[in-house]
Amino acid sequence: MPVTIYPWHEALWHDLLRRRQALPHALLFRGRPGIGKFDFVRKFAQSVACLTPATSGAACGVCESCRWFEAGNHPDYRELQPAAARALEAEEGAQTERKPSQQITIDEVRQLQGFIYLTAHRSRGKTIVLYPAEALNFNAANALLKNLEEPPADVRFMLVSHRPSLLPATVLSRCQQVALPTPSAEAGARWLRERGIENAEILLAQCANAPLAALELNDEGYLNERNTMLTALSDQKPDALSLAEQAARWPVPRVLGWLQRWSFDLLYLKSAGAIRYNPDFKTALARIAERLHALDIAQFHRMLVREQRHAQHPLNARLYMESLLFAYLALLRGERPMPI
Ligand SMILES: [Zn+2]
Repeated sequence: MPVTIYPWHEALWHDLLRRRQALPHALLFRGRPGIGKFDFVRKFAQSVACLTPATSGAACGVCESCRWFEAGNHPDYRELQPAAARALEAEEGAQTERKPSQQITIDEVRQLQGFIYLTAHRSRGKTIVLYPAEALNFNAANALLKNLEEPPADVRFMLVSHRPSLLPATVLSRCQQVALPTPSAEAGARWLRERGIENAEILLAQCANAPLAALELNDEGYLNERNTMLTALSDQKPDALSLAEQAARWPVPRVLGWLQRWSFDLLYLKSAGAIRYNPDFKTALARIAERLHALDIAQFHRMLVREQRHAQHPLNARLYMESLLFAYLALLRGERPMPI
């Protein structure tokens, strides 16, 4: 069976397969988190290396090269990911003593050099995938740049990125960019419903239409917890203390995500008259947005974005939730929220 691809990527998939004989030596695949970019690129790399591809160009799934791919040990293929992502994939994060790195380091790029300058085992050439490419730290990006500038003829790089703007311009300028699309809300919801997911529309809206991200949210508690949180936020005078007590039991990034999407919707209502993430709370959002100033909401939203980046493990979850919710109360009172 040739490999298959998510329906929202099919058109691009066929287009790229047609061009597989004449690929540039560096491609950058970009798109929203949770749409299946890494899966797409792995299958594309497998197809390029396949010895007996289907007429479409898709990997056959049975030749020696495909078997190597599926066993994760193709001699002409390497993936570079931050240690933290590898640990997560191998589900060994909890057992490692040192916190695994979130970055791709210069040592890891240097370790590739032997592979890059070695002769390929097969005539299809060698492929190196970097995911996510923005995890390259400054020195690692510089080291990679040398390879991108003078690559041996049989090496191709496939960078995968959620946010290419975080990559150095020097790296970007060496790559041909490929934008991976997000499906429409209808197509995404259909795909989720085919997998037996209830509340497909709401889950999808939470993830800016990224279906795989929505699939991950589909656990028992998620929607119940979210509804509890958003119902409390909809209140004229939310009870911050009791909500903080509950919220302290939920994962911090998740709560920050709800608040962030809530404030985004408030801002979006003010500026564009529309809602992106929480259409089921439209009435409450509209009532609140009407009373607030866009600048105050923007400041609250920026504070949440900052917190999402840094405050993953507060010492005291309950106090932390209280400070977040007090900042929200201040916003509702029309005060400019203070940094927490
Ligand atoms: Zn094959």
